[in-house]
Amino acid sequence: MPERPSLTVNGRRYRWMDQPLVVVCVDGCEFDYIHQAVAAGVAPFLGRMLATGAAFEADCVVPSFTNPNNLSIVTGVSPAVHGICGNYFYDREAGAEVMMNDPKYLRAGTILAAFAAAGARVAVVTAKDKLRALLGKDLAGTCFSAEKADAATLELVGRPRPSVYSAELSEFVFAAGVKLMQTRCPDLMYLSTTDYVQHKAAPGSSAANDFYAMMDGYLAQLDALGATIALTADHGMNDKFGADGQPNAIYLQDLLDEWLGRGTARVILPITDPYVVHHGALGSFATVYLPGNADVQATIDRLRRVEGVQLALSNAQACARFELPPDRLGDVIVISEKNVVLGTGRARHDLSGLDAPLRSHGGLSEQAVPLLFNRRTAGIPGERRLRNFDVMDIALNHL
Ligand code: ZN
Ligand code: ZN
Repeated sequence: MPERPSLTVNGRRYRWMDQPLVVVCVDGCEFDYIHQAVAAGVAPFLGRMLATGAAFEADCVVPSFTNPNNLSIVTGVSPAVHGICGNYFYDREAGAEVMMNDPKYLRAGTILAAFAAAGARVAVVTAKDKLRALLGKDLAGTCFSAEKADAATLELVGRPRPSVYSAELSEFVFAAGVKLMQTRCPDLMYLSTTDYVQHKAAPGSSAANDFYAMMDGYLAQLDALGATIALTADHGMNDKFGADGQPNAIYLQDLLDEWLGRGTARVILPITDPYVVHHGALGSFATVYLPGNADVQATIDRLRRVEGVQLALSNAQACARFELPPDRLGDVIVISEKNVVLGTGRARHDLSGLDAPLRSHGGLSEQAVPLLFNRRTAGIPGERRLRNFDVMDIALNHL
């Protein structure tokens, strides 16, 4: 094979892959899911990755939500650079609350598109369709979702189209990845699952172990096909309910209505998306737009005194600390403690779809994620803080 050039994308350099590289983003994967499945003996391949590959704990992007992290992984940079800081935001220019799924909101090119443009065969498979357009921006390659799989994809994978609320939605992603590797041998493949199982099932539970056992089988097949496997997560997942089994929620809009006057502040929950059944739009991160006459610091001080609030920061403080785009967040950023979520108004959350006690994410408590490789690493400075969006750097430059 002729020597291929290194590529520089968003200021970071990536070597050309020697073997096919499969990057897997396991949605909502606390490290403990992997440890428990391995300990239960149902995930021997993951056990091998831990023992003979390389395993690190890395930090994801805060807010610990799906879209900001998937986009960081495929661009190699923080949301301050790529611009995607939630599923949903208040567009100040348009004066409207909108989904952030449209590729027009993405401010950086992806590593996937750069390799495809340089001649690599690139494939992307996502569980939910909400990510497909963002991940596939400017990508000359294969890109589809399990949720909206077309007839040709269904035939390739040899499985029926799964329900959007099912473990099978993620299984379809892995099955498609194996089929693509067998038939088209992509140089670079990105597989991104959904956290349907993790929202319901804690690490070590039978539903969780079944999921990781399923995943383990497909990863072993990809390994046997000669692929380098790099696995990380978009965020972790924690219990967010009280002793009564009900969500432990702070309803911020109700509080601010009481403090500042009804409807004067605007609470945005960036977890909001069309798929609310498994979390009822309750997560551990919120941003607040205050009316022009409000005392921002006094409101922050008051929010900090609310039980269950871990952090309340100004826009400037939060954007500096978490590397976020200031123009897409409100005046105040609020993060709740590990077992607490943030809502808007109590009456605005439809929790009727929650058929298990709430587990969710969004905060600092879901920031630690696994970073696993099926080969040993070399040359990573020991003191370097690893991020999930270093996964391509390590896979291409340090294996
Ligand atoms: Zn996620
Ligand atoms: Zn989720």
